[in-house]
Amino acid sequence: MLVEGSDLENELGFDQGEVHNSQIPAAVTDTGCERELNEDRYAVIESPSGLAWLVCDGMGGTSGGELAAQLAIDAIRRDLENLPARPAVAALKSAILEANRIIVLRRQNQAFAQMGTTIVGVIFAGSEIVMGHVGDSRAYLVRGGQIQQLTVDHTYVQELVEKGHIAADEALAHPQAHILTRAIGSEPGLEVDIQRFWIWEAAEDEPRDCLVLCTDGLYSHVTDREIAEIVTANNPQEACVKMVELAKARGGYDNITVAIIPVGGQVRQQPPAGASQVGSHGLGYQHKVPQARSSGRGLLKNFMIVIMLSLLGALLVVLGSMLHLSK
Ligand code: CA
Repeated sequence: MLVEGSDLENELGFDQGEVHNSQIPAAVTDTGCERELNEDRYAVIESPSGLAWLVCDGMGGTSGGELAAQLAIDAIRRDLENLPARPAVAALKSAILEANRIIVLRRQNQAFAQMGTTIVGVIFAGSEIVMGHVGDSRAYLVRGGQIQQLTVDHTYVQELVEKGHIAADEALAHPQAHILTRAIGSEPGLEVDIQRFWIWEAAEDEPRDCLVLCTDGLYSHVTDREIAEIVTANNPQEACVKMVELAKARGGYDNITVAIIPVGGQVRQQPPAGASQVGSHGLGYQHKVPQARSSGRGLLKNFMIVIMLSLLGALLVVLGSMLHLSK
């Protein structure tokens, strides 16, 4: 199942009466103020390996950029929908590499020789979140008014920052800020950055996290602090619209895309005890979040280990006394 567009809740058949507004994910894409075409794409794909959210920022002149982002979304959709359930890391990586294979092939046509796209995508599988990215589209984590960038841009200016040649806050205004060091379609042996996270149950008084996926058309105009504030103060649909409007009010020279996905708990880099490693395909914000404590299965496993160690100890005692007798 694939949804592209901004009217997600209706197309996915969400019952707004059951899920509070603040827990309904949303996404908006906008051509911006200066471009004629929107080369950004986003998609939500329900597949056997989990629920995927993707944001792509295409490039390549004339219609190449539009084509690149759409080709990537289509290739990933085919790969995820048609293959049987796999662990989410394998599923996302193979789907992104398939998109790369398709675009590398299409670039052999001279008209599309400059074509490429970024991607930032996540798969929700049980309590696990697998994130993959290539290029300068970003994922952020927003928790209770705070924000953390989860992805590292694959850009020339990011390399300058890492080498200490420029400060992080100079990067976006740098004349070569748009130069990517990695993109889907650039070469056959593409390296995809993959990260794994898990959703932990939040206590009654703790904030629930949101993931924010976006293209550079958003964060070039809207600061991280502003993203945190707007996402925290509004439901996802309102926050998407407000951020896009803010980016446009400040010039909106690029296409702008943002998706906000409430996860229903807190995102951490370690799995909670008893979390399933191979995913189901529930919707991201409706996950049954496992308790972060020893499960019944964990206790049984510990009990079995104690029994086996006891048996081993007894065997060693018997062997020891046999050796002693044989001396
Ligand atoms: Ca862009």
